[in-house]
Amino acid sequence: MSYVDEVYSYVVEKNPAQPEFHQAVKEVLESLRVVIEANEEEYKKDALLERLCTPERQILFRVPWVDDKGQTHVNNGFRIQFNSAIGPYKGGLRFHPSVNLGIIKFLGFEQIFKNSLTGLPIGGGKGGCDFDPKGKSDNEIMRFCQSFMTELYRHIGADTDVPAGDIGVGGREIGYLYGQYKRIRNVYEGVLTGKGLTYGGSLARTEATGYGLLYCTNAMLKANNVDIKGKTIAVSGAGNVAIYAIQKAQQLGAKPVTCSDSTGWIYDPEGIDVELLREVKEVKRARLTEYAAKRPSAEYHEKKNGEHGVWNVKVDIALPCATQNELDLDDAKALVANGVIAVAEGANMPTTIEATQYFQQNKVLFICGKASNAGGVATSALEMSQNSERLSWTFEEVDSKLQGIMENIFKNADEAAKKYGKEGDYVAGANIAGFLKVAEAMKAQGIV
Ligand code: NDP
Repeated sequence: MSYVDEVYSYVVEKNPAQPEFHQAVKEVLESLRVVIEANEEEYKKDALLERLCTPERQILFRVPWVDDKGQTHVNNGFRIQFNSAIGPYKGGLRFHPSVNLGIIKFLGFEQIFKNSLTGLPIGGGKGGCDFDPKGKSDNEIMRFCQSFMTELYRHIGADTDVPAGDIGVGGREIGYLYGQYKRIRNVYEGVLTGKGLTYGGSLARTEATGYGLLYCTNAMLKANNVDIKGKTIAVSGAGNVAIYAIQKAQQLGAKPVTCSDSTGWIYDPEGIDVELLREVKEVKRARLTEYAAKRPSAEYHEKKNGEHGVWNVKVDIALPCATQNELDLDDAKALVANGVIAVAEGANMPTTIEATQYFQQNKVLFICGKASNAGGVATSALEMSQNSERLSWTFEEVDSKLQGIMENIFKNADEAAKKYGKEGDYVAGANIAGFLKVAEAMKAQGIV
């Protein structure tokens, strides 16, 4: 059995009932096969892959909180400090009822390679809780965040581990988490990113993941002589990533015609009205039915079991921006049958392995989230830099750095793919480029 296969079996055996984690490891190891096989003896002797696939530290904790009626609830909190070879742990916090250890581990594992690809000194981590913020009052959210931080504070710090937002964790939650950290530790430091602009946040952080996704997509299209202008786009999700992906796509002259949330989806052939979408989702925290009610050109479709409606619309480009495994083989077949040219992941692992392979076999340009959604964490690292020098940069300065970082990520993924005989396979290229830097740093630091 090859070392890659041995390690995959080891991961499955040691981490039972964590299918998303197995899937993320499998995808990475498969695309690293050519690099690993060239250095098999050395990596095996140092158990490099076993160490890479085992988190440095896993923190599991109880989060008790009291609702507005006086009822106590208990949730499960997680922080996975996966790999600190190239910098302090960095990665978001997800609050969603589906959160479990395997999901946080898959996200933390992906974060190692993504953070490495940015070229910035940040290690990989991820955290979250199986708490559902939907329908909770502001006071309930505040009490929950304070309870979560009352345990988390002892494990994080500006030079140790710097969490940020993810699904269910936006500006409001980061504010409450930051307030409680500062209160307990009595230090004013950049321990979280995605902060408000009045207390150390960075301009352009809110927009960064969505904008970065389009900078990367555009770089991939340009490298293949495709002009983004006039192209129609299917976007899934209606959260932070989706909203700013739609906005930047419009600025670049393309036309996004769909978006979705957990209960339904919109097809708007005249193009999504992004200001209305922001009003419905960011301000009112309402359902997409409210978007349809105010927009005569929009069709609203209730989500049916197992169907991911947006992928059945005829478009040139698809940008999955909601959650993991939301684009499966049937969706990929529908997109290819409708003539899709390119797919770029805004969410983390939104495309199943079978769907990814189908796109690649059918010559659809495909880039994975580790590369294409890295703009969020890259800008978080820029927020850390601004906090350390106690200065704030302008929107234009941050945005232009972001654009440079995303173009560089694409270039590195493209070059690594070519170097290892996999031209045009940007998934392999991204995984290889991200891995090599981490592997070298791990080797230099000895067996730790
Ligand atoms: P948000 O919470 O802002 O938005 C998530 C969106 O996806 C919402 O519209 C939500 O619907 C929908 N959604 C969530 N879960 C499901 C589900 N199980 N089925 C269908 N729809 C769902 O999160 P973000 O936009 O921040 O994150 C989206 C994705 O991007 C995630 O995979 C995240 O890990 C990834 N990502 C985010 C980054 C960031 O900077 N925010 C950085 C890099 C990656 P509803 O409105 O009904 O809740």
